Amino acid sequence: MFKYMPTITDNLHQVYRQIHDAAVQAGRDPADIRLLAASKGQPADALRTCYREGQRHFGENYLQEALDKQQALQDLADICWHFIGPIQTNKTRKIAEQFDWVHSVDRPRVVERLSAQRPTEKGPLNICIQVNIDEEQSKAGVCPSELEALARMIMTLPNLRLRGLMAIPRNQDNIEQQRQPFAVLAKLLRELQHSTHLPTLDTLSMGMSNDLQAAITEGATIVRIGTAIFGPRLARP
Ligand SMILES: *Cc1c(COP(=O)(O)O)cnc(C)c1O
Repeated sequence: MFKYMPTITDNLHQVYRQIHDAAVQAGRDPADIRLLAASKGQPADALRTCYREGQRHFGENYLQEALDKQQALQDLADICWHFIGPIQTNKTRKIAEQFDWVHSVDRPRVVERLSAQRPTEKGPLNICIQVNIDEEQSKAGVCPSELEALARMIMTLPNLRLRGLMAIPRNQDNIEQQRQPFAVLAKLLRELQHSTHLPTLDTLSMGMSNDLQAAITEGATIVRIGTAIFGPRLARP
């Protein structure tokens, strides 16, 4: 028997619905939650398919792969590109030039370079600080105790605009457990809002395919979704 396989278009609309339903359930306005399509390992055509459905925000993890897709999609001028992967210091120039947002900022050296290398005519680069919310040894991100110092440093730099916090908690399958690290990240953002009075600090980048609902319940304003839209990723060489 022929089994109906959902298309990227079907999946994308399903994710929009999930975001809408999770927001309503949490008593939030669905318009306050932005879907970032996490498109690493997907071909440019898959992004184009999403674009045709109205999707404008795309997140990429690997610089060269991202630059190739930006080239292939340069006719789609209003795409907003987010860098969400680990940042190697020697890659900051292209990131500063080619992206609108960076979600994975976690150290002073990267912060300084991104500001110095951001072309001023493009306006400030939007920055989220990645927090190592479970304080796991192997994970990227600042520990919560280092967060305020890094935030204050970003605030002094002319070509960066501090927008908020990002985290990738460890995998858990139960929604109550999933909510805990997201609640901690939300609290860290509130504390930073109070201590800095920075009006641009409005972003909680949290929630992926498996923990979307928990993240929205705890206040996510950007959810980064890959697998639920595109299906499994192509293997990286
Ligand atoms: C791949 C990735 C995602 C999306 O993960 P899925 O589980 O495929 O939805 C989100 N955020 C980051 C930083 C990623 O690398």
